[in-house]
Amino acid sequence: MDSFTKTRGMSFPRQVLAGHGCVDQIGDVCEDFELKGTALIVTGPTTGTLAAGLVRDHLKQKKYDVQQVEVGVATQQNLVKVEEVAKDVKAGFLVGVGGGSKIDLAKLASVNLKIPFLSVPTSASHDGIASPRASIKDGGNSLSLNAKVPMGIIADTALIVKAPYRLLASGCADVISNTTAIMDWQLADRLRSDDFSSSAANLAKYAAESVIENAYAIKPNLEESVWVVIRPIIISGISMAVAGSSRPTSGSEHMFSHILDKIAPGKALHGEQCGVGSIMMMYLHGGDWKRIQRALRMIGAPTSAKELGVSKEQLIEALVHAHEIRKDRYTILGDRGLTPDSAERLARITEVV
Ligand SMILES: [Zn+2]
Repeated sequence: MDSFTKTRGMSFPRQVLAGHGCVDQIGDVCEDFELKGTALIVTGPTTGTLAAGLVRDHLKQKKYDVQQVEVGVATQQNLVKVEEVAKDVKAGFLVGVGGGSKIDLAKLASVNLKIPFLSVPTSASHDGIASPRASIKDGGNSLSLNAKVPMGIIADTALIVKAPYRLLASGCADVISNTTAIMDWQLADRLRSDDFSSSAANLAKYAAESVIENAYAIKPNLEESVWVVIRPIIISGISMAVAGSSRPTSGSEHMFSHILDKIAPGKALHGEQCGVGSIMMMYLHGGDWKRIQRALRMIGAPTSAKELGVSKEQLIEALVHAHEIRKDRYTILGDRGLTPDSAERLARITEVV
């Protein structure tokens, strides 16, 4: 018999704070971690102003030297900018303050520069807050890269509730879409011996179920809603750290979303597209797609092509080509995907068109 040679590592955040006003504790967190040197805040010109100001004040109270770099969307160019500023100011650690793209830039820069990174999200539009992955635009392509989980996550509900509600609803839809991602993973495991991890799948499923079960309580301008959602979002990220890949949170519904990004760029948010994709993929799996639809409607996330701002033709094209996105990732779409007729039928039955 062969000797046992399997080995795998998992990295987790060392501290996760979530709740009202917890950004006040960022200085203590940095001291606990024994972080040294200059703190470089990576933020945006508009989104993170209030939050970045709070972070700066609290770090200065703890006698940290604080510098700031403002960047736009997550592009290769902006990543280089963050890294250059970090080198100039001799940053000891990075603090990403803002929506997904600022966190992603700080995440990638921290890997390249080999310095720690903390995440202070000001919105919760997808599950990237706590995940070890980051997406970045390079030319016309959107790349999903392996990065590192943040050393600390400080998710202040009082800040996040100030972001447009659409972002939170999109984050909910992204987490709900774990339901079909897990089914795809199980299918791939049965057909292709994919490296299924039930601990990772259970975490991702728990996250999705808690959003579905609490959908009635998720409403605009209500800080409690953020509280209900932020933990499942973080747990989704942790499930990826356990799996060592995005598999527990990303299946056919994400492939549908990624191809829609190419067919109809800039129309809808990532999580919104994944939610609609999840309704349809759940139907293909023979599962309770109406339960997904109901939860999304209750939250106020899109459930149709019209609500996504895309045409029926674009939606069907996305369904037909979704399987081409990641050939290595086997899903319910199989190797050959849907025919235009079956795609149209699927979208009609599930009330997406
Ligand atoms: Zn996602």
